[in-house]
Amino acid sequence: MSKIESYNFSGKKAIVRVDFNVPFNEKFEITDDTRIKAALPTLKKILSDGGSVIVMSHLGRPKGKANPDFSMKHVQGRLAELLGTEVLFAKDSVGPDAKEKAAALQPGQVLMLENLRFHLEEEGKPKLAEDASEQEKKAAKAEMKEKQQTFSKELASMADVYVNDAFGTAHRAHASTAVIADFFDSDKKMFGFLIEQELQSLDKVLKSPDRPFTAIMGGAKVSTKITIIENLLDKVNNLILGGGMTYTFIKARGGQIGDSICEDEYLELARKIEKMAKEKGVNLYLPVDVVAADAFDNNANTRIVAVDQIPDGWQGLDAGPETIKIYQDVIENSKTILWNGPVGVFEMDTFAKGSRAVADAIAAGTKKGAFSLIGGGDSVACINKFGLADEVSYISTAGGALLEYLEGKELPGIKAIRG
Ligand code: AMP
Repeated sequence: MSKIESYNFSGKKAIVRVDFNVPFNEKFEITDDTRIKAALPTLKKILSDGGSVIVMSHLGRPKGKANPDFSMKHVQGRLAELLGTEVLFAKDSVGPDAKEKAAALQPGQVLMLENLRFHLEEEGKPKLAEDASEQEKKAAKAEMKEKQQTFSKELASMADVYVNDAFGTAHRAHASTAVIADFFDSDKKMFGFLIEQELQSLDKVLKSPDRPFTAIMGGAKVSTKITIIENLLDKVNNLILGGGMTYTFIKARGGQIGDSICEDEYLELARKIEKMAKEKGVNLYLPVDVVAADAFDNNANTRIVAVDQIPDGWQGLDAGPETIKIYQDVIENSKTILWNGPVGVFEMDTFAKGSRAVADAIAAGTKKGAFSLIGGGDSVACINKFGLADEVSYISTAGGALLEYLEGKELPGIKAIRG
């Protein structure tokens, strides 16, 4: 594989997979263009080298059918504005119009393809009748796999080089994120700057962390984070668990959790995780006190109680003051910090103090020289809500792909290029 920073795109046509799946208001005005801005360094590098760009993305879930509501045309103008150059448009992602326009591209020009997901081949999932037999399902899947190959080859045939800069979809084995890479020699495929930066930051944390390494895992449920927690137990020195998952652990220890959120089917697993942490020498921190409320409401009555003595009719919704002190001390004395998931119901101001304290401690640790990585939608929302985005080392906005990477899974979009 090649490296984008050292590759010379002069005279080359590059097909670039970006994630322009941006949100709109009802007038089809883009309400957040972060994802378009994030792809600019890659696109500008290709253009300033004297190359041309064929840009491709999905937008929404059009389910394999052309649908003007999901047209990339809604994104074309904003990209042109941000790039400061004209953006040509192909009315389909493959077919004669795209082919002709791609063939005519001159150095410095940009062509945007129509939404890849107007074709079922992009995701590669066949439409199956509900009553389809196993045999029919198998045949439909095999047929779709072949069609996906053809679709990917057609995309590839328009360009000399393939660049993947869509980390958000790197956990999908789709035509444009993975299959297409097979049609390029290894020196003609590479990651864009955005994916490179994500991988560098993630690998710094997961593969060569400065120690002590502390991970803070929060969020509503333990069930969605189990694999990540298990994977992290082999890597971290300190594991701080907070938020809604706290109460499954406390109940598993025999504590009284009142009406707090709990997943009874995970009690055994919570015990197993505590045991594993001990065996691996990981310091596991759970809250010692919590802000309990008599309703899931910003205006509820609240009181500070020990985490294992929450009365019936009350539920734990945030970390308490003693807990916050412990969390802060551990976080501020770490050299590597990973945060995924709020430690309280941060959306309500009454229960945002714990998450605010975590965010503050991460900022303070970063100031003292730690490398901090914040990932997952809700912790990113937290950091933004508290205005601390500029005071941490790296914020990953990748969602599902990030979670799978933290779980230790190999992402198809990464493997397709790295091999
Ligand atoms: P997740 O998507 O799993 O990271 O969960 C994030 C959500 O967990 C946020 O919306 C928080 O409000 C919620 N959450 C955090 N702590 C608690 C708690 N103690 N009880 C209920 N929900 C919580």
